[in-house]
Amino acid sequence: AAKEAGRATCRFFTPELNRRASDRLWIENNLRRALGNDELELHFQPQFSLDGRRLIGAEALVRWRQPDGTLIMPGQFIPVAEDTGLILPLGDWVLGEACRRAAELLRHRDLLIAVNLSAVQVRRPGLAERVAGWLSSYGIPPAALELEVTESVLMDESDVVADTFSHLRGMGVSLAIDDFGTGYSSLAYLKRFRVDKLKIDRRFVSELRADNPDSGAIAKAVIGMARSLHMDTLAEGVETEEQYRCLVELGCDQCQGYLLGRPMPYDDFLAFLRGGAAAPADRVAETVE
Ligand code: C2E
Ligand code: MG
Ligand code: MG
Ligand code: MG
Repeated sequence: AAKEAGRATCRFFTPELNRRASDRLWIENNLRRALGNDELELHFQPQFSLDGRRLIGAEALVRWRQPDGTLIMPGQFIPVAEDTGLILPLGDWVLGEACRRAAELLRHRDLLIAVNLSAVQVRRPGLAERVAGWLSSYGIPPAALELEVTESVLMDESDVVADTFSHLRGMGVSLAIDDFGTGYSSLAYLKRFRVDKLKIDRRFVSELRADNPDSGAIAKAVIGMARSLHMDTLAEGVETEEQYRCLVELGCDQCQGYLLGRPMPYDDFLAFLRGGAAAPADRVAETVE
C-alpha cells in the first residue's frame, strides 16, 4: 500500500521534477555498466601562471560518453555516484586513467596534472597507498600530481584524512582545496591540514571589476591568507581579460578558465600542447600594460 501511495504521489510531481527523478534513476541504473564498458573519459583543461601566461598544468575532468556520442557532465552523475558508493570504483578509474595520460603528457612537457577527489574517496583508508601504486606503475614523479578536495573534507574529525594528507604530501603529491570560499570550513583547518594550493571559486572571480576595487575583496583576502600560509592560489573560471587583469593586480599565482582554454578531449589537449599553446600565447600582448 505504501508503494502504491508512493507511486500515486508521482502524479503530483511537476514534469521537471519527474524528469529529474527519472534521470537520476536512469543514471543509477546505467553508470555501473558505463564503468565496465569504457564509456567514461577524461577531458583536460589547461592551467596557466598569471605572470606570463605559461601553461603549467591541466585539470582532469570526467565525462560520460553515451554510445550515440552525447556527453553527460559530471554535475549530473558524480552526486549519484557519491550516493550509491559507485564513486569508489569510478574514482579509482579516474586516478588510474589520469596517471596513464599524465605519463604520456610528461613525455612532451613538464606539467602538473590535477585530479578531483570526492570526500568519500579521501575518507576511505588506503588512498595514499593506492596513489603510490598508480604513480609507480606509470612511472610518474609524485610532484606531477595534484589532488583536489573540497573544504568539507577538512572538517573530518577522524585521523584517516589527516594521515592520508600527510602521507601524500610526504610522497611529494600536492594538495589543493577546490571551490575555496564556498564551504563552511574554518580557517583553522588550513593550518591543521597543510595544503599547497587554494583554488578561488569562480563565483569570486566572476564579480571582479576593474573599476570597483571592492569587487575583489574576497579574492584579495584569500590571496593574502594563502601567501602568509605559504600556499599558492589559482583562480577558477576566468572568462574575461578584465578578470585576468584584476587577478594579476591582486597577486594571484595561477588561473584556468574559458578565456585561456576550455576542457578538451585528450587528443585535442595533446595537439594544444604540441602547438606550443599558441592560442593563449597570442593574447599576451593585450595584457602588457
Ligand atoms: P571543479 O573541479 O570546480 O571544475 C571546474 C568546473 O568549471 C568544470 O566543470 C569546468 O568545465 C568548469 N569551468 C572551467 N572554466 C570555466 C569558465 O571559465 N567558466 C565556467 N562557467 N565554467 C568553467 P565540469 O567539468 O562540468 O565539472 C563540474 C564538477 O564536477 C567539478 O568542479 C568537480 O567538482 C566535479 N568533477 C569533475 N570531474 C570529476 C572527477 O573525476 N571526480 C570527482 N569526484 N569530481 C569530478
Ligand atoms: Mg576541481
Ligand atoms: Mg572548482
Ligand atoms: Mg566547482
